[in-house]
Amino acid sequence: MATVLDVQEFLLFIGGQWTPAQSGETFDVVNPATGRVVARVAKAGHTDVDAAVQAARKLFDSGRWAKQTPEARAAILMLFAQKIMENAKELIYLEAISSGGTVRRIGSSDILQITDLIQQTAKFIQEYKYVEYLPIPPFPGPANGQVWREPYGVCAAVTPWNFPMILAMWKVIPALAMGNTIVVKPASNTPLSTLKLAELAVQAGIPAGAFNVIAGPGASIGEALVTHPQVDKVAFTGSTEVGRRIMQLASTSVKKVSLELGGKSPSIVLPDADLDIAIPGALFGVFMHSGQICESGTRLLVHESIYDEVIERLVAKTKEIKIGDPLNDQTGMGPVVSKQQFDTVMRYIQIGQQEGARLVCGGKPATVEGYENGYFIEPTIFADVTNDMRIAQEEIFGPVLSVIKYSQLDEAIRLANDTIYGLAAGIWTRDINEAYRIAHELKAGTVWINDWHMLRADAPFGGYKQSGFGRELGRHALDEYTQVKHVHASLVPEPEKRPWLSMLFG
Ligand code: NDP
Repeated sequence: MATVLDVQEFLLFIGGQWTPAQSGETFDVVNPATGRVVARVAKAGHTDVDAAVQAARKLFDSGRWAKQTPEARAAILMLFAQKIMENAKELIYLEAISSGGTVRRIGSSDILQITDLIQQTAKFIQEYKYVEYLPIPPFPGPANGQVWREPYGVCAAVTPWNFPMILAMWKVIPALAMGNTIVVKPASNTPLSTLKLAELAVQAGIPAGAFNVIAGPGASIGEALVTHPQVDKVAFTGSTEVGRRIMQLASTSVKKVSLELGGKSPSIVLPDADLDIAIPGALFGVFMHSGQICESGTRLLVHESIYDEVIERLVAKTKEIKIGDPLNDQTGMGPVVSKQQFDTVMRYIQIGQQEGARLVCGGKPATVEGYENGYFIEPTIFADVTNDMRIAQEEIFGPVLSVIKYSQLDEAIRLANDTIYGLAAGIWTRDINEAYRIAHELKAGTVWINDWHMLRADAPFGGYKQSGFGRELGRHALDEYTQVKHVHASLVPEPEKRPWLSMLFG
């Protein structure tokens, strides 16, 4: 494994081979904790995009992957999970030095989430209903009807920098599991772990060309990929703005699209909440990975009867978060991913103050000794936020919590839903029946009760409203990577008994 000061070289991964960019160009990947270049990566251009798509197309059309039995594909996927475990140390390192995610989290959660996803998917594809037999209908006449589920063909995935491995695998695994092939364009800040995963896939026996990775700027090669005529389906995770653009681009050739976009998830604290769990839970909900999670609980709606106590306890508990180098296993919160993200978050903190919210915690760049060039920000809490403020409406994607006071539960539910987003929502209460009642009212794809960030490989994840559409994880993800075919076979050999004869002839 490389040391912290090494600059590693990465090529593109196309057709099962490490491949230089045709232009010979490269770009740098920077460690956000140190501001130092840690890797140099081949920078794909349009011809490289085409080569990757052609490799994926060729393998798909050969049937060498798509026509294997689900059992055979499941067995190979399980070997992939094993390879990931064997190489976990390197994957964790690559993820930490590029995304700023802590080894404490990546090592204890991300890697397990990925292997769990593979194992669960391998099980699901062996139980999946690939053929549905329809009853013989009296109208329009006796026939054998079947509904088949078939892979799309070549999938394209454009992924973000916050959870590079997890968010790539949420697309790669169901796509491959259902017999598709895929080309992934990871975010330019964080291509390393995705490139490594593609190499491990081939080592595990997934055929060359099934899983390709091209790195380079989204605005050029991302667009070339999602508009490529040989791509059949596009999956994207990232900003709502780019999601809209991708939807527009994909519409020119009417590609199937799934989008997982931004969020401004509300977390409602009821007066009877157990604050011993709600306080650390709400902070875990917002400050995990420095707030750079699409489903972070960024708006905390607190009942007026407990408001002052909650603010006081939130601030006190936040002080226990240890900010530092993500490679140190004691670190709870690392830097934000880039200088650009750092500037965005600091600008929002300024906006919050200008809007009249009360800054009760943080609000400044965090000082970490020995890491003066890192992009660290103090976990920041604003009290007395109103839901119309920009810090309550816009996705900040940084360690910033907006606390909003409410007096009536109906008002809290209305405020919770008063957002363009609908990715997640949460409720903190001791009354579970009341929690389920509120969950019905919340317009979000995931609702947590007395918890946060609990995603499961067997439960669908995705957005309501402008948080996107389509679902990742679980059996629902398998539907996203298949299309439906109705096959009809007549059971009536006698021409005179065909009902359609009288519609046109004679
Ligand atoms: P983007 O949405 O710009 O980037 C996500 C991915 O899309 C990256 O791979 C990027 O490539 C690619 N991309 C960018 N432009 C295009 C395009 N025109 N066509 C195709 N692909 C494209 O996120 P940012 O990195 O700019 O972050 C901005 C904001 O997005 C954050 O502050 C946050 O609010 C939100 N975001 C949400 C995420 C989520 O999980 N829902 C994850 C990350 C960000 P490249 O890196 O080369 O630009």
